[in-house]
Amino acid sequence: MAYDFVVVGAGISGAATAYQLRRGGAAKVLLLERGEAASGGTGKSAAIIRQSYSTPLLVRIARESIAMLGRMKDELGEDGGFVQAGYCFIFTGDMLEGARRNVAMQKQLGVVNEWCEGAGFPAHLPEINPDGIAAMVYEPHGGYADPIRATEAYLRAFRALGGEYRGRAPVRRLLRRGSRIAGVELDDGDVAAGTVVNAAGPWSKPLAESGGLAMPLRSVREQDTVWQVPGGRNVPRVSISNGVDAIYIRPLGGGRLVIGRGFPKEYTDVDPYNYKLAADAEFIADVQKRAEHRFPAFGSMRLIDAYAALYDVTPDWYPFVGPRSGLGGYADFCGGSGHGFKVAPAIARELAAWLLTGRAAEDFRQFSHDRIADRKLFVQSFGGNRG
Ligand SMILES: Cc1cc2nc3c(=O)[nH]c(=O)nc-3n(C[C@H](O)[C@H](O)[C@H](O)COP(=O)(O)OP(=O)(O)OC[C@H]3O[C@@H](n4cnc5c(N)ncnc54)[C@H](O)[C@@H]3O)c2cc1C
Repeated sequence: MAYDFVVVGAGISGAATAYQLRRGGAAKVLLLERGEAASGGTGKSAAIIRQSYSTPLLVRIARESIAMLGRMKDELGEDGGFVQAGYCFIFTGDMLEGARRNVAMQKQLGVVNEWCEGAGFPAHLPEINPDGIAAMVYEPHGGYADPIRATEAYLRAFRALGGEYRGRAPVRRLLRRGSRIAGVELDDGDVAAGTVVNAAGPWSKPLAESGGLAMPLRSVREQDTVWQVPGGRNVPRVSISNGVDAIYIRPLGGGRLVIGRGFPKEYTDVDPYNYKLAADAEFIADVQKRAEHRFPAFGSMRLIDAYAALYDVTPDWYPFVGPRSGLGGYADFCGGSGHGFKVAPAIARELAAWLLTGRAAEDFRQFSHDRIADRKLFVQSFGGNRG
């Protein structure tokens, strides 16, 4: 069997890319998934949506993705559970300089946001204990989505366009012929491909290495907790990155919240095929303490769930996207680095156009793994998955 494109991994990155390739005119596209669609990081994602980034490239991409999520039902026939409830980023005094610079840059690129400091603060988060908070920025167009629904929407639209999907079909290795990747090996034989797209999330590293390709990707364990706040209390409706207490909060509705630890924190490298799936008791207690201090209304909230998943982290916490110099038949789309859900729709569209036409915007080319050799890593203001 020969395909124009074989996409490996049906998380949000692979599903959206397969759809965009088919939509862009690729005749034969095969999407391969080792388990079930969205069974990797995508299925566990908090799926917070924001445009609060520190480089013009990611601000542009996040902004375009929000527009795409907003019109998903029109385009794909079903929506991705996007709730445009707003987003707040809370800053310490040390973060102010970078935050002011970023907010000005974001405004120039058309992002609607509102700086909140001094009188009137915290207008968009009346529930918050303001102690120790220097300022915050509010983005009305941010919020959260349903990462599984969004992935399924892309997958179904891909198949409706005639794309071929195979679940429970692990790629055992990349087939390499000299300076080309020529296809993939499956349990039931080889599949030839014009181009293989590696969208295997934290498993992209072993996949790339099976074809002799370098992949400087860490696989780190990321824990999350789900809580129920007692009825009758006011809980935030917006998604929140809280740089003061190093936590993030994503509403689920009905007083239920996903709460995780944000940067700065310790990141533990693990084997992506063998790591502890349950959350640690100390982690759960720590998150509860931080959240209840910041939001007194959360007092005596009940733990509903707690689990661990993986971040696939690149050296600069920006994804690897696109072809590599000197290598034919291969493209990366991995290394979401803990913030890759929201940017995947627009990245997939631009990656597909690059692969189909050979042309890409100059800023977008910096996503290529080539930036490692070219020493052109992205520089962000705050660190970690803040981007
Ligand atoms: C707990 C948590 C919270 C997060 N919160 C946010 C957030 O708030 N906002 C945000 O934007 N991002 C967030 N992220 C990050 C975001 O979810 C990820 O960057 C994104 O979902 C990654 O999608 P992906 O498709 O690249 O990878 P994945 O979802 O990991 O998908 C990779 C797929 O490849 C498959 N695969 C692997 N190896 C093979 C193989 N050899 N053959 C076939 N298939 C294979 C896997 O089974 C998997 O389904 C979070 C991530 C986690 C873990």
